[in-house]
Amino acid sequence: MNTDMRKLTRRMLGCSLTALLVAVVAGCGNDADRAPSPADLVLRNGNVVTMGEAQPRATAVAMTGDRISWVGDESGIESWIGPDTEVLDLEGRLAVPGLIEGHAHFLGLGRSRLGLDLMDTRSWDEVIARVEEASREVPPGTWIVGRGWHQSKWDLPPEPSVRGFPVHDAMSAVSPDHPVLLSHASGHASFANARAMAEAGVGPETASPNGGEILRLPDGRLSGVFVENAELMLDSAYSRWLESMTEQQQIARTRRAIQLANRESIRFGITTFQDAGASPATIEVYRTAISEGDLDVRLWVMLSEAHATPDTLDAVRVVDALDHRLTVRAIKAYADGALGTRSAWLLEPYEDEPGSVGHNTVPMERIREVADLALAHGFQLCTHAIGDRANREVLDVYEAAFAANPAAAVDARFRIEHAQILHPDDVKRFAPLGVIAAMQGIHSISDGPWTPDRIGAERTRIRAFPFRDLLDDGVVVMNGTDAPVESVDPIGSYYGAITGLTVDGEVFNPQHLMTREEGLASYTIAAAYGAHAEADRGSIETGKLADVTVLSRDILTVPEPEIQGTYAVYTIIGGKVVWQAAGESASR
Ligand SMILES: [Zn+2]
Repeated sequence: MNTDMRKLTRRMLGCSLTALLVAVVAGCGNDADRAPSPADLVLRNGNVVTMGEAQPRATAVAMTGDRISWVGDESGIESWIGPDTEVLDLEGRLAVPGLIEGHAHFLGLGRSRLGLDLMDTRSWDEVIARVEEASREVPPGTWIVGRGWHQSKWDLPPEPSVRGFPVHDAMSAVSPDHPVLLSHASGHASFANARAMAEAGVGPETASPNGGEILRLPDGRLSGVFVENAELMLDSAYSRWLESMTEQQQIARTRRAIQLANRESIRFGITTFQDAGASPATIEVYRTAISEGDLDVRLWVMLSEAHATPDTLDAVRVVDALDHRLTVRAIKAYADGALGTRSAWLLEPYEDEPGSVGHNTVPMERIREVADLALAHGFQLCTHAIGDRANREVLDVYEAAFAANPAAAVDARFRIEHAQILHPDDVKRFAPLGVIAAMQGIHSISDGPWTPDRIGAERTRIRAFPFRDLLDDGVVVMNGTDAPVESVDPIGSYYGAITGLTVDGEVFNPQHLMTREEGLASYTIAAAYGAHAEADRGSIETGKLADVTVLSRDILTVPEPEIQGTYAVYTIIGGKVVWQAAGESASR
């Protein structure tokens, strides 16, 4: 453990104490003299990295109910095993505190999964078969959407075809009652079946729009493929259908999306998901979904700023409700846009658009108002800021709000979401203000290669994704993926933050990288701290919630290239195995 890590854990020391108190109150302290009653679930023969101060390493963990009842080694675990205890032999694998996604969009992730994922299809016939299967599962008239097909990835070219693209007849024959809309992997073309084209009102006589093309057979019939702007005709028909759904149908669709987001989270080892912006209506659906058993993953939800009024804040506020599955005690605001679209708000003009510094989205006066509201109602404020100007302005607002509300400002744990481009003067302001940096390692390697185009090499080197500078200053840095913008797989963001390796094989800003231990902290104890949740989560310690992720490889020691490809073998939430990778035969 290096000095920076020690600094970080020192910051967390107060938390371990709280956890200990919880443990004592719960009557399950780590007391060697007491003969334990058998645990419900035992993990043994593991490489357990606890992220806890007192006992950083262990090989065995006992769980009773939804809590960790004991952490230790082989010599002590036997006494926790009774006839009804479920025992998992980890076969030496790495077990870490249940991973916490620090910033992503739960419903957005689920909605992105509602459609068919056609990325791995190897032929047009396979695409047809997937659609046929889907059409049997949903009522006639329901749109079947999908994405990711690519004719050049297929083993055989489609037959018949137009310019290499498939023709709709065979697809239309298996889906006469369902409009079908399938986006090409490139995102620049869509395929529609006959029913979808009919709903969009396009026929042989329809002309291609400006900036787009409707592909046709030699006899003039439509092939079903719509390129660029021609896709919009299909999109608007699909949108009309979405809007025409009854409230009941919309809720059912949201519930389905929630189930898919849950599955997507647990399969990547996520045990708590910090949801970056939801309306009160969405929060209500979350609540129902949790009550009815749809969710394994724990949600920590930021209320969207547009809904932040005194009454709404009081109405939605919940902490650790529904078996610790729902907390709403934070507000999400947006100070600027994104670097890719040159809407991030910069201190100096864009390198590739010298007339522009980007812009502020929600006016800073409103963010100040929300900061005061948050402090008055015991909420955290989490403000999206990407550009260095946006970050500076948000820090100014936080500083002023804290000065005006000194009592409420103590341990307020306001956050900046993304904190991508930071002027060195502003890096220094995080720690004194107690502001948390909720960053995304995956963005650093996916945006890194083109960041110099936007802000030049020098600004990139000094200001872009300065994980190291923040950590050296003692700032709590969390991690996450911003899914569905990126895959919710935590391995990508861990890998990005510690290796900086981009797809080009270059190391982006090597001077700003995290250590592996810091990378793990950013997904566990630091992320828990960033949600006022470190008393219950973020480390494997007696008395805490029994949330543990077991990984296929030891990401703290394997060579860097092997980190990618690591997967969650077990996801354990509240003492229950909610995900087990296929092919893992546990000796239970
Ligand atoms: Zn986001």
